[in-house]
Amino acid sequence: MRSVNILVVGAGLSGSMFARELSRLDPNLDILLVDRLADGRFDRYHRICGEAVSDRAFKELSMEPRNVRNRIVRAREKWPGDIVIEEKAEGYILDRPAFLHSLHDDIDGKVDFEQSSLHSLRKEGAAIIADTSSGAIRCSKVIGADGAFSTVRKHLSSQRPRRTIAVKQFVVDEPSEEGVIEFTYGQRYDGGYSWRFPCGGMSNLGFPRGCGDTPANVVEENARYIPIGHVDPLPMSDVLLLGDAAAMVNPLSFGGIRVAMLSAQKAAQAIADGDTSLYRRWWNGSGFNNGSFWDAYMVSKGWDDQRMTRFMEDFRGGYGISGLAKAMLRGGEGRMVAKAFMQSFRYGW
Ligand SMILES: Cc1cc2nc3c(=O)[nH]c(=O)nc-3n(C[C@H](O)[C@H](O)[C@H](O)COP(=O)(O)OP(=O)(O)OC[C@H]3O[C@@H](n4cnc5c(N)ncnc54)[C@H](O)[C@@H]3O)c2cc1C
Repeated sequence: MRSVNILVVGAGLSGSMFARELSRLDPNLDILLVDRLADGRFDRYHRICGEAVSDRAFKELSMEPRNVRNRIVRAREKWPGDIVIEEKAEGYILDRPAFLHSLHDDIDGKVDFEQSSLHSLRKEGAAIIADTSSGAIRCSKVIGADGAFSTVRKHLSSQRPRRTIAVKQFVVDEPSEEGVIEFTYGQRYDGGYSWRFPCGGMSNLGFPRGCGDTPANVVEENARYIPIGHVDPLPMSDVLLLGDAAAMVNPLSFGGIRVAMLSAQKAAQAIADGDTSLYRRWWNGSGFNNGSFWDAYMVSKGWDDQRMTRFMEDFRGGYGISGLAKAMLRGGEGRMVAKAFMQSFRYGW
């Protein structure tokens, strides 16, 4: 049976970033990265995304932004009651498949990378045995970077994300306002929103499935899932779940790219330091893991358009201190939601 030190399941943002980071921190480790998809199917899966990443994410990762399609400078939110809020927002629209290929180029010759699908996992003494489409693999640690329906999580953790939301996404052959990411809120989006982002010279649109109409001029139509309500990212001392496998996506913004890549860096560091519990310690103390995001999602999901308008009236002038102060003085559930929204700006994307 083939043996490796570390088996990484999933070569998306979290798995690729993990392999890149760990091979840099400890070049002597034998790391195998597998993904069930290759070539066009891999690229298509990873195009199903708004591809928006904050500038802060790259700074935090100590990495220069790459494979940028568009620069983002502002975010616009449209709320019921004709409330429109515009705020500065520094970030990028990535060409996500190209970005992933560039990460794979970084690990070429340092990490074994192959197309293979994980079917199941079991513990055998101190080892973990993975049953994959290319045969059985023995490893001492397994990294679940295999997305919303993680097979690693299914076999080695008793927890499941609290909710998994189906999302429709379209690329349409119409330009968007350059530099602006736009969000529309309302009761029809069932706790979510619809978005319109630039995508090169075209636009990237989407909304929770069943909550919007197919737009005109569609070039590509896709659907994928967003898991929210996280699980323990360290279900066993030798099993680490990253990004969507641990449902780390922010329930208010649905942003998951930044935390997927950051979780990968933190997990790699914990393994290089010889103490995987450091990974859970990071997560437990992290601003991404803030219970009020989930609470605010659950409360605001029940709001109708009138309630949303009443809540947002305080922020008509923008998300400044005065709007927050008014919402805090009103108390009640609005106070909790306002605080969570404010935190979500820092940790949401
Ligand atoms: C429509 C949509 C729009 C989004 N827009 C944004 C956005 O604009 N900004 C943002 O920050 N976040 C966004 N997100 C969230 C973001 O896409 C995810 O949080 C992020 O992709 C998580 O990365 P990951 O590497 O953890 O998982 P994934 O990207 O899901 O990667 C998982 C990988 O594992 C592989 N895999 C799965 N099962 C197996 C198996 N059994 N064996 C081998 N390989 C396997 C898959 O093929 C895949 O390559 C969006 C999500 C959706 C659905």
